[in-house]
Amino acid sequence: MSVASVFPRLEARLPSVQKPIQYVGGELNSVVKDWDCAASSETGGPTVRWALMYPDAYEVGLPNQGVQILYEVLNERDWILAERTYSVWPDMEKVMREGDEHGPIPQFTVDSHRPVGAFDLFGLSFSTELGYTNMLNALDLAGIPLHAVDRGEDDPVVIAGGHAAFNPEPIADFIDAAVLGDGEEVVLAISDIVREWKLEDRPGGREELLRRLAVTGNIYVPRFYDVAYAADGAIEAVVPNRPGIPFRVRKHTLMDLDQWPYPANPLVPLAETVHERFSVEIFRGCTRGCRFCQAGMITRPVRERSIKTIGDMVENGIRKSGFEEVGLLSLSSADHTEIGDIAKGLADRYEGSNVSLSLPSTRVDAFNITLANEFSRNGRRSGLTFAPEGGSERMRKVINKMVSEEDLIRTVAAAYSHGWRQVKLYFMCGLPQETDEDVLAIADLAKRVIATGREVSGRNDIRCTVSIGGFVPKPHTPFQWAPQLDHEATDERLRLLREVVRADKKYARAIGFRYHDGKPGIVEGLLSRGDRRVGGVIEQVWRDGGRFDGWSEHFSYDRWMESAATALADTGVDVDWYTTRERDYDEVLPWEHLDSGLDKDWLWGDWEDALAAADGADIEIEDCRWTPCYDCGVCPEMGTEIQVGPTGQQLLPLSVV
Ligand code: SF4
Repeated sequence: MSVASVFPRLEARLPSVQKPIQYVGGELNSVVKDWDCAASSETGGPTVRWALMYPDAYEVGLPNQGVQILYEVLNERDWILAERTYSVWPDMEKVMREGDEHGPIPQFTVDSHRPVGAFDLFGLSFSTELGYTNMLNALDLAGIPLHAVDRGEDDPVVIAGGHAAFNPEPIADFIDAAVLGDGEEVVLAISDIVREWKLEDRPGGREELLRRLAVTGNIYVPRFYDVAYAADGAIEAVVPNRPGIPFRVRKHTLMDLDQWPYPANPLVPLAETVHERFSVEIFRGCTRGCRFCQAGMITRPVRERSIKTIGDMVENGIRKSGFEEVGLLSLSSADHTEIGDIAKGLADRYEGSNVSLSLPSTRVDAFNITLANEFSRNGRRSGLTFAPEGGSERMRKVINKMVSEEDLIRTVAAAYSHGWRQVKLYFMCGLPQETDEDVLAIADLAKRVIATGREVSGRNDIRCTVSIGGFVPKPHTPFQWAPQLDHEATDERLRLLREVVRADKKYARAIGFRYHDGKPGIVEGLLSRGDRRVGGVIEQVWRDGGRFDGWSEHFSYDRWMESAATALADTGVDVDWYTTRERDYDEVLPWEHLDSGLDKDWLWGDWEDALAAADGADIEIEDCRWTPCYDCGVCPEMGTEIQVGPTGQQLLPLSVV
């Protein structure tokens, strides 16, 4: 059996849409396999077929590391076929819905233009909750029923992954399953289960397949859990509704990253994308303990790649892709135990070539400048980014980001005196316990940065860009109980700050100011800490035309609020209840049956420490990489451990590529 490509139906219409190249496929290192690839393979048996989606436009989705890694890991198996699909722009959606004499053109993969609805599994990776409406649009275009309960035997199993899947409750009605944590091993485990079930001639149909996935304890199948609500609107309990289904679903943790050096065949985009570089993840996880940071909390513990694997991956990736820029990624790249040797080794190796290296690090210390100097040997000195996150020392204690003002000034002094002209500082607004004064302290800090830069460099063309994001409390963090600041108060604080910056003529022109209004943060907050009742809001927004909510030109706050008013009308709860309300310890949070490994009492204690810090207490949680374990719960709960160097290995400054 084969499945026809929709490309012949699409081709004639491509000139009528923007950037048609994004729908064509055939990128360097992309993979095209026979629909029945297992039949001609050594393994034999049935083929397991995945459609993988990053639910955003090609230009954002293609560089996504998670999808690229899974695409490669799956396609390495001769019995698995994995293809990619991205969100189509509204002009293409119109073309597809209009269709031709055969009917609408369905959501298709870019590799072979096969209809997504024909695959066994439809896996979506969510880095942000604002991609949920794009998922609904893709399901609808694919002809897959929106609600999991309406799907038939031939519909794909829809699986969510990525950071947002750590609370998939708002999309529980639309997905068949969710996977928490690292995907490399679990997609193979899922493929094995599907293969076995197909080999046995699909006993028990779709329901049995989902049961087999759920009983592993590692794959969450929402339909096997019932949610009961109390009279006040809070959740009373989430319990399995059939025997054998575990009460809690655990996240996956990939150990020994050296064994998984992906992507080894990086995809080279055909159309312009947001990142055009080869990225190597130098470690996974972060235990610095910043209380706002969901990524740090849910990816514990730290697991480093060795300097040798990093060197090999960089060399291989450049050779296979032709990229001239290499990014060394992680949540805090300068914290790799061998980062000094990595930086020097790679800078030596590629000196004089056209390969440039970048380290999107945000650590505030002078060592970072040494690294930045190494990395800029071959390239332009565009700018350095640091993230103090909180404007005042008090705020930085609340969020456990222990950067003193003196640290920051010392660091920027080192940067400006080494010839850097542009420093970018990243902050958040709306953090728990924040006051107007905490936000206005950002202006004082920025002025001191400029004054220091002018002093140490003796120049006047020093720039500092202050970039401010709105804080959104996230599940599985100590701030999961915190009230979110409403968007009016966020906007007012930012207005005050802008006024203060502009009023000082001595510095105003040297300080750039970037921020967004508070409204998208409220929608993100609703989706981040929402429960199954929020699913109705997402569906209503999509039905009213909501798409690409991560793009300011497509986002409509009013559409979200009007949809919420309608969809939540009979629930007794509203948007404020999900966002600006503080929770207490006893409340059952929507994600409590999903186990990130973090101990609830430890998280609560950390939340109380944050409140105490706001009142002046001096409590610092240090990084467990270099201090004793402070029992956050992850390692014993998940059976994992910290994996860090130094390995003592060296990168050889050998041949220039
Ligand atoms: S359990 Fe201990 S060592 Fe493991 S991540 Fe938590 S604090 Fe660190």
